[in-house]
Amino acid sequence: MLSKEDAQEFRRRLLDWFDGAQRDLPWRHTRDPYSIWISEIMLQQTRVTAAIPYYSRFLARFPTVRALAEASQTDVLAHWAGLGYYYRARNMHAAAKQIGSACAFPNTYDEIRALPGIGEYTAAALASIAFDLPHAAVDGNVLRVLSRVFADPCDTSSAAGRKHFARAADVLLDRSRPGSFNQAMMELGATVCLPSNPQCLLCPVSAICRARTRGAQASFPFSSKRMKNLRESLDVFWIERSGELLAWQRPEDSRLMPGFWELPGNEQLPEAFAVRELGRFRHGITFHDYRFRVLEAILPNELGPCRWIPITSLGTLPASTILRKAHRIVSRHRSKEKPAVSHAASE
Ligand code: SF4
Repeated sequence: MLSKEDAQEFRRRLLDWFDGAQRDLPWRHTRDPYSIWISEIMLQQTRVTAAIPYYSRFLARFPTVRALAEASQTDVLAHWAGLGYYYRARNMHAAAKQIGSACAFPNTYDEIRALPGIGEYTAAALASIAFDLPHAAVDGNVLRVLSRVFADPCDTSSAAGRKHFARAADVLLDRSRPGSFNQAMMELGATVCLPSNPQCLLCPVSAICRARTRGAQASFPFSSKRMKNLRESLDVFWIERSGELLAWQRPEDSRLMPGFWELPGNEQLPEAFAVRELGRFRHGITFHDYRFRVLEAILPNELGPCRWIPITSLGTLPASTILRKAHRIVSRHRSKEKPAVSHAASE
């Protein structure tokens, strides 16, 4: 969370930026709840540029909620054709009939939320943009902005994480201009705070953003679903001579396992030349699934940070789990290679 002063400064900078830099979109020229509702439903699964022509055509054919309620479903679906996810159109049609019988567009968050096809995000967006009600709308773009601005490692893919960010968004919301604030947050996420390449130099809140201050934009938002899929393949070299093994030791000030011995890889021995594979193993660290290959290699001229250590000392030295696993793989491999000793020879 931000301090009270930083939160105020955040709102001021964000809204100043939005007032000057927002994209000119047709649904931003109206306060008519029906038109805003149509735009929000279309934008649920469709990009802004693709939605614009559909929005104009749909409103030309069904200019009021009553016109939509009185239309046949076939007509409604025909005007939705091309946007996909037709359940959106069916729900909208059902909601229009519901609103038509109530004679007025619902104007509270709870009433809007109760309409078919409207979830928390759409209800908050519609309530704030059309009726100035103080409800924070949190979609994927907003989640990303929040998690970066707060440098908050909470899991954005979990229900608890999303609740946590919804509370944070509610605290940050500008209650004097909730509709503009919500749209500004979405606009920032859609045009500046991009998923893989945030444009921090152009960002109006960069001075307040904690991820940027730490240079850690790429670490946020955290998503366990995404991280679980992170697979990486790595090679380590097994280079041995007369009972000694080539290894390197992590510096004492290393963030990860200081002082531990590791097997070299391409980074430590770029000139090492692999001659054969001795085995493979997997190693999981948090949400990374590493697949290691242990490669026997020829001793290179440059040893880089590596040193020779007695293989017998591996049990007593601080050796990393990866080194220990590789050692077990190599021992198993070697035992299979040993020629069988005949009884006659041993007697
Ligand atoms: S400074 Fe960068 S990471 Fe932070 S909110 Fe702005 S664009 Fe996103």
